[in-house]
Amino acid sequence: MTAPTLVAFDLDDTLAPSKGAISPRIAELLQTLLQRVEVAIISGGNEHQFHTQVIAQLGDVDIAALTRLHLLPTCGTRYIRHDGTGFASVYAHDLTQEEKAGALTALREEAERLGLWEAEPWGDILEDRGSQITFSALGQQAPREAKHEWDPTGSKRAALRDAVAARLPGLEVRSGGSTSIDITRAGIDKAYGMQQLTERTGIPLSSMLFYGDRLDDGGNDYPVLALGVPSIAVDGWEDTADKLDELLKVLQIASPSGDLTPSPSPSAPDSPARAAATG
Ligand SMILES: [Mg+2]
Repeated sequence: MTAPTLVAFDLDDTLAPSKGAISPRIAELLQTLLQRVEVAIISGGNEHQFHTQVIAQLGDVDIAALTRLHLLPTCGTRYIRHDGTGFASVYAHDLTQEEKAGALTALREEAERLGLWEAEPWGDILEDRGSQITFSALGQQAPREAKHEWDPTGSKRAALRDAVAARLPGLEVRSGGSTSIDITRAGIDKAYGMQQLTERTGIPLSSMLFYGDRLDDGGNDYPVLALGVPSIAVDGWEDTADKLDELLKVLQIASPSGDLTPSPSPSAPDSPARAAATG
């Protein structure tokens, strides 16, 4: 394997347990990696999850290293980097006010029409996440058992999804969790985020290396592989950690001086990665 210029990761079940914090071992590996290469993390999760799952767990990392970290929540519809003083938004490709208003209205009206609008929910039913509108039938704070019992066959969500989708051409309407419907702009997956990343950094996709737990056809990491990014399949964060130990040996060889100089210039990668997907 030749050395990549940028190493990218899925978050849930690749760097951390689903919705959980990265472990001290992963934090240490990321710190070491950031001394050598650019590091990107891309997830369908929202910005808040990146703060709690990753940023808050990173520990002491020098500023120069932090500026090499690229965070891409909600599949790269948002892009966050450290600007020398703190993590700041590079861009947020959120839904327009018009798109949001249309989505919120369609969800409310169709849920009422279908008798699925809960009169006494646990918290808000509708949530504006910027790049995504989410409907939670029983409210954001509904207990797990109540959510589980609400729509065991999925027929309620399917009916609402179909009714809302018919009213929102140009937006993607999906069944999310056990009681939820998510609305985003159409055509947004991790390939979108990786394309944004290569455009913004100038680092070619072929000089990147991506780790994901769902690179199988139909998995949410598959679009990255299909885009042509050299990719490595992992099975949970422990497996990722083991594979990063191996990668760091290669990166040590790539920088035989062993010093902590900044990574190679993105515009002149001297050794593009050629790794193929495994599994
Ligand atoms: Mg995952």
